[in-house]
Amino acid sequence: MKTYHCPQALLPDGWARDCRITVDNQGLITGIEKDSSSAAASRLPGPVIPGMVNVHSHIHQRLIAGLTGYRAVGADSFWTWREQMYRAVGLLSPDELRTLAAFAFMELVEGGYTVTGEFHYPHRLKGGEPVQTASALFDAAGTAGMSLTLLPVWYRYSGFGRQAPAERQRPFIMELNELADLVGALRGHVAESTHRVGVAPHSLRAVEVSDLPGLLSAIDSGPVHLHISEQPAEVAECREHCGRTPIDLLCEHIDLDRRWCLIHATHASEHELRHMARSDAVIGLCPTTEADLGDGLFPVRNFIDEGGRFAIGSDSNLVTDAASELRLLDWGQRLQLNRRNVLCDEGEHLGRRLWRDAALAGADALDQPAGQLAVGRRADWIVLDADHPMLDGLDADYQLDTLVLAGGRELIDQVWIAGRQQVEGGRHPGREALASEVARLRRRLAQAH
Ligand SMILES: [Zn+2]
Repeated sequence: MKTYHCPQALLPDGWARDCRITVDNQGLITGIEKDSSSAAASRLPGPVIPGMVNVHSHIHQRLIAGLTGYRAVGADSFWTWREQMYRAVGLLSPDELRTLAAFAFMELVEGGYTVTGEFHYPHRLKGGEPVQTASALFDAAGTAGMSLTLLPVWYRYSGFGRQAPAERQRPFIMELNELADLVGALRGHVAESTHRVGVAPHSLRAVEVSDLPGLLSAIDSGPVHLHISEQPAEVAECREHCGRTPIDLLCEHIDLDRRWCLIHATHASEHELRHMARSDAVIGLCPTTEADLGDGLFPVRNFIDEGGRFAIGSDSNLVTDAASELRLLDWGQRLQLNRRNVLCDEGEHLGRRLWRDAALAGADALDQPAGQLAVGRRADWIVLDADHPMLDGLDADYQLDTLVLAGGRELIDQVWIAGRQQVEGGRHPGREALASEVARLRRRLAQAH
């Protein structure tokens, strides 16, 4: 049992002063007292906020971050980017994935994330078995001290109407019984840890909607994540194939309960928005990646007004900073609606509202007891750098607004996960040992272009 004293902490009902937080040996919060003394407690030196939950990541894509900025073809798009990404996957071994992922998870932890949902489809790197790449990701998360919800992907086809997979998609393909066995085995491996295992039918391009009931009965618990409506071209192909949009198609066949998280519901009509908002599903939005890939803007404000819940993800890991995702989420709506502070209500601070809602919805979508400083939840928190000139002496709400609107990782002093400190002075101490190997992998890829 350990006890911490926070001068200020962001609890579910708002900021509290002089909080005493007790954490047990499993890293769970067992008590929170407000207006308490600091006697016999470790002092956390700045405002304490819940760790952000990263609901959607493809960690291997960190390898190509910044290496797809050269326009080689007439009209660069998501689809040309995807070819470059597939080429990068072809170069990686499971051991290299382990190193790259550990490094990138540490970058995510420094950027304010304490849990990641890894939407994992490169199952067979260099001909290895799916259990090898999955284990490499759990090893990497362990090295970074991060909690992982691994979402092994079910990938069958290259397009609507059961089109055969392309050569480069072969390493992603799995039969349902193989996937169910993998999920069962991985759940056995992580039973005593802070990790979880869900499942991810990749998209309605890669899996037929009629495949989903079989999947849900073969793997009948845990999170289910799916890319739903990212690109206009896939919406058009879906319409051509069956006369429906992907969201309508899914909603016709599946009752969206709390297991579901729909990633990139970018292109959604009013009635689709309402249907998703009134379900128990969470929507996963990845603003920096969606901007990088030219996806479009999800109407977040309308969705919130209908009662919908959203979480954020680093997705391609071009950016590994939680504050940047929240900032762009609001900025996108500002640009569209010609207003400011769109995603909070009158009398609210934007930083607090966005951080609180996204962290909690993300934790629910990943089946993790995280996302809130509350009894029974994990001791996953961030301590802001109260001595930084941008924060020094300000009220906690202005400090959090500054993190979200004007700063990022440089304003984060410490990150704790399951009651263990992983970041001190903004740095994860494990990064240095992996840096030269990650640089080598990046140079190799750049030279292969
Ligand atoms: Zn994705």
